[in-house]
Amino acid sequence: MSTYKMVCPHCSSRMRIRTSEGRHIFLRVAYLQCTTEACGWSVRAEFEMTHELSPSGMPNPDVHLPGVNQELRQAALTTEKITAESARA
Ligand SMILES: [Zn+2]
Repeated sequence: MSTYKMVCPHCSSRMRIRTSEGRHIFLRVAYLQCTTEACGWSVRAEFEMTHELSPSGMPNPDVHLPGVNQELRQAALTTEKITAESARA
């Protein structure tokens, strides 16, 4: 588990979330800006919940997302492994 970090594709600095707004229960739109003043790149981004990896213990009957297939489950496991390894580095 870690906090979410976005990296500027231009200068590799961290991006700061200036504002964000919920568009839907599964979708949030955010406006990001690079933290390096000399770069200053800013961008619109979307964060979307797309697939359920494991069910909620407190399910809301209005929430329906597709489950993951074997390929997506494998990708999630691989990503968790990479994140854990980079956190140790
Ligand atoms: Zn930058």
